[in-house]
Amino acid sequence: MSDIAANLKSLNERIASACQKAGRKREDVNLLAVGKTKSIAAITEAANAGIEHFGENYLQEAESKIDALPEAIWHFIGGIQSNKTRSIANRFTWVHTLASAKIARRLSDQRDENLGQLQTLIQVNISGEATKQGVTPEVALELVEQARDLPGIRLRGLMAIPEPTSDVERQRANFASLRQLKDEISETFDTDGFDQLSMGMTADFEAAIMEGSTWIRIGTALFGPRQ
Ligand SMILES: *Cc1c(COP(=O)(O)O)cnc(C)c1O
Repeated sequence: MSDIAANLKSLNERIASACQKAGRKREDVNLLAVGKTKSIAAITEAANAGIEHFGENYLQEAESKIDALPEAIWHFIGGIQSNKTRSIANRFTWVHTLASAKIARRLSDQRDENLGQLQTLIQVNISGEATKQGVTPEVALELVEQARDLPGIRLRGLMAIPEPTSDVERQRANFASLRQLKDEISETFDTDGFDQLSMGMTADFEAAIMEGSTWIRIGTALFGPRQ
């Protein structure tokens, strides 16, 4: 077995046991393989091992990988600049990092109708760190109001990268606050399908599963450390 296939096997065991502990169905937690800095060969190996969903942070790096594996499902998980929205809108199926009404309008306008709606998550800064991307919880509510009727995108939920901490109770509290915000938004607006939570990475995905994550974004545990 290759390293990546072996990593996937042990990762799947950890995901299954976290789901069991959380009393959740395994199929409700999706694995997004994060391939930033990793080669097309590594991504191909992961696809051959059975991974269907891939996340990329940088458009330029993503494009050659998407060309090499067009049958995979691609998710954009990096910061979005206005001059990149056309490619992001059309080369990806999901975007996890929506953080402004202007970008929402551009993605919606530029998405090719034949592709169907772009599945979109709003990135929220739940730890209040000045350096992190994402909107505050208050602005997330405004952004839902502004973006929910745009025809080219469909709002599906929230994403966060909380402050790194090895304290599992803190990890869980941060993830719980994202879940509560998602619930508040679903109750406030009539947003059908606003049910996705993109949260949890290599260091904290088990806590995220405990708090309702539907997309864990995993790089290191699958592909090994980045240089
Ligand atoms: C790099 C990255 C990940 C994966 O991080 P690991 O700790 O390597 O699992 C997940 N989400 C985002 C947004 C990232 O940039």
